[in-house]
Amino acid sequence: MEQTFIMIKPDGVQRGLIGEIIGRFEKKGFTLKGLKFTTVDRSFAEKHYADLSAKPFFPGLVDYIISGPVVAMVWAGSKVVTTGRKIIGATNPAESAPGTIRGDYAIDIGRNVIHGSDSVENAKKEIALWFPDGVTEWQSSLHSWIYE
Ligand code: UDP
Ligand code: MG
Repeated sequence: MEQTFIMIKPDGVQRGLIGEIIGRFEKKGFTLKGLKFTTVDRSFAEKHYADLSAKPFFPGLVDYIISGPVVAMVWAGSKVVTTGRKIIGATNPAESAPGTIRGDYAIDIGRNVIHGSDSVENAKKEIALWFPDGVTEWQSSLHSWIYE
């Protein structure tokens, strides 16, 4: 089953959105495979966002990600990468549709509450970075009620 890396950013944690965000992925029918509440240091955050290192907002982005604890997660399910991005909403909350996480809970692009992998390939890289010891393999007993 496809997997994606989802992270509740420090603003999402501080604002008490952990339960709400996890609930949205859970209720959709996706399966939680990994969960870690942690802070990361500068070099780790720079590695996670390495593709964006040339962008003018990169230093501020790294400061933001290391400013407090985050919730790092692996979610599994059919098309979870693409659907996860839809649940999250557009990068800029000013353009995220209502009903999406960013559309409902964020205003500024630099405080947009949540990260989600943008491709299956990047999901694999991010999962390997954040969960080097692997994830928890299990199959939900609801599987046949969610997939035909
Ligand atoms: N970001 C920012 N300013 C920008 C673009 C992005 O602060 O002009 C931040 C924002 O928090 C975003 C993150 O950098 O979520 C990563 O950017 P990306 O383009 O990968 O967006 P995402 O994949 O998170 O939607
Ligand atoms: Mg991205």
